[in-house]
Amino acid sequence: MKPGICYLAGAGPGDLGLVTLRVREVVEQAQVILYDHLCNRSILEWAPPDAEIIYAGKKAGTHTFPQDEITALLIEKTRAGKRVVRLKGGDPFVFGRGAEEAEALAREHLPFEIIPGVSSVFAGPAFAGIPVTHRDLASQITIFTGHEDPAKLGENLDYAAMARQPGTKIMLMGVERIGSITGALVSHGANPALPVALVRWATTGRQQTLRGRLDNIASLVAEAGFAAPAVAIFGEVVNLRDTLNWFETRPLFGKRIVVTRTRKQAGALSSSLGSLGADVWEIPTIRIEEPTDRMEFGELVQDSHSYDWIVFTSPNGVDAFFRMFFKLYDDARDIGGARIAAIGPATAARVRDFHLKVDLQPPEYVAESLIKVFQADSSVENLRMLLVRPEQARDTIPRELVNLGAIVDEAIAYRNVPETADVTGGIERFRTEGADLVTFASSSAVENFLALNLSLPPTLKLASIGPVTSKTIRDHGRKVDIEAARHDIPGLVEAIRKFYVGKK
Ligand code: SAH
Repeated sequence: MKPGICYLAGAGPGDLGLVTLRVREVVEQAQVILYDHLCNRSILEWAPPDAEIIYAGKKAGTHTFPQDEITALLIEKTRAGKRVVRLKGGDPFVFGRGAEEAEALAREHLPFEIIPGVSSVFAGPAFAGIPVTHRDLASQITIFTGHEDPAKLGENLDYAAMARQPGTKIMLMGVERIGSITGALVSHGANPALPVALVRWATTGRQQTLRGRLDNIASLVAEAGFAAPAVAIFGEVVNLRDTLNWFETRPLFGKRIVVTRTRKQAGALSSSLGSLGADVWEIPTIRIEEPTDRMEFGELVQDSHSYDWIVFTSPNGVDAFFRMFFKLYDDARDIGGARIAAIGPATAARVRDFHLKVDLQPPEYVAESLIKVFQADSSVENLRMLLVRPEQARDTIPRELVNLGAIVDEAIAYRNVPETADVTGGIERFRTEGADLVTFASSSAVENFLALNLSLPPTLKLASIGPVTSKTIRDHGRKVDIEAARHDIPGLVEAIRKFYVGKK
């Protein structure tokens, strides 16, 4: 059999934006993926649905998967002809045993490729506002592992030489041994007042930085309960953080926010909140599925050219409509002369993605607003309207349109199904850590989230995209802390920002 290939790929320090394009490319083509404890799991969502995904991580101390088993698995899968991606935190060749894995593959004459990654060695300091070099302060960098205990015999690090080295020193691992490491440096003549910073969970929403000096950082670590994974930076450059701390000063930094949306749509909300500094994770509550009666939907779409208006109420409806439409027709002109109405800017934007103009977009992003617009313009009487909507939607629009004299057909385009599987690990994280805020962009997200029966911490705040979603929250006996003034994703983000920044 033709051997496959093994990509030893750097997954970066945590932030998804710091993953290379090459990694994305090979993940999208992968047949087998082995990933580490420190890898951002969102990378796995790029994998084909049928890829075999294996957690090969070890958490400090508990080796869930011994190294020789990982290596054996890489060899076995690659030899079986698979495209294997071995995802490793940071850069694969920086303290990650990537070298051993590459050597093993080479020994077996199996093809492999190394994809360098953004190492926490550099990303940690950068995200703490600490330049690792500086014209006046540091012209060299020493990178070392704190994995080895300086008190033990047979260790490889020369602390006497390191104590004499000028410039910046960067240590990975070894937060647990920080006392004996700084002690060894000081006893070999390093300046006890040398500035030190530790950055944990660098580049993620839960980044924390601890600052001290060589002679007191160990006690600060103990006091704060500061734990791995962390990068330590030793050197005068640490003081530059006073002016360059850009990441931890963003408006939502440190806020733990859960985004409940469909898996496909969560991205925009998560990334907007993330770029304001929030620690965001997703609990998908809804999955989009085909409507129960696909045949009927198909027939209505087939006749869409016979309507005066086509009304879209959601981006999902637009997607489902055109997926069906282009299955039935291969010429866009077959849609005929119908005018198009879209509720909400995201829905309108999705229509424009298909190179069609939106003739009517009500000023507010709710059903009532559409009705008001049609009411003001009394011409809908006897007009034929095709309303594209989800299966379990409120029936306000069709009822009101019929009251106005329109002839309405409802094209049930898709079904919102509760997502109960913990596909992202988000439910588990909520259970163990809680959160500061949960966002809801629809009533069904509220229903499905509450149906998970998670215990909600008393300090937890709830944010809603608009009055309808808010009502559902209140109907469940919960308080709405934030409601978007503009009922779309940017509106929701703005309301959340105001809520927290206003309170600072
Ligand atoms: N190959 C990785 C390092 C693997 S060793 C890289 O290039 O980054 C694991 C150590 O990396 C951790 O103990 C910690 O010191 C560091 N590390 C990895 N990701 C980190 C992060 N997001 N924040 C802080 N330290 C991190």
